[in-house]
Amino acid sequence: MAKMSPARQTIINVAEQLLEDAGTAYTTTGAVSDEILSALKFVFKAPLLPALVIVDHREVTTITCPSGRKMYQVVGSSGTPYICLPSSYYCSCPSYRYSVLLRDEHLMCKHVIAMKLAVGMGVSKQQEVTDQEMTTLLKSLE
Ligand SMILES: [Zn+2]
Repeated sequence: MAKMSPARQTIINVAEQLLEDAGTAYTTTGAVSDEILSALKFVFKAPLLPALVIVDHREVTTITCPSGRKMYQVVGSSGTPYICLPSSYYCSCPSYRYSVLLRDEHLMCKHVIAMKLAVGMGVSKQQEVTDQEMTTLLKSLE
């Protein structure tokens, strides 16, 4: 991953904190306050609303395997499943490539936002695969 500028890193830190706050709010009170939602909207812009819909529809799956590797599968509005990796903001969708990496319009694509929200809120589905299946999934990413 390319090195981030200090300004971008600061915004990412703020975004991560907000995502964490949203998860904490949801797990302790059962809801995310309007205040947190507006802040999230401010930071993430257009991809936030579709991300919330994805979370609402429980379309985030945590995929784990015996060796401990982990990835997330997120199904967006088109019905296509995309893979998001936890260690970076990588997603296999086209808008990650164009809007996030190339044009720098958005901090994260809607799938990664949805993944982070769902995991923080404890609403992602769980799936176990074999190490072999995990390797195949990872290889399919490029
Ligand atoms: Zn994506």
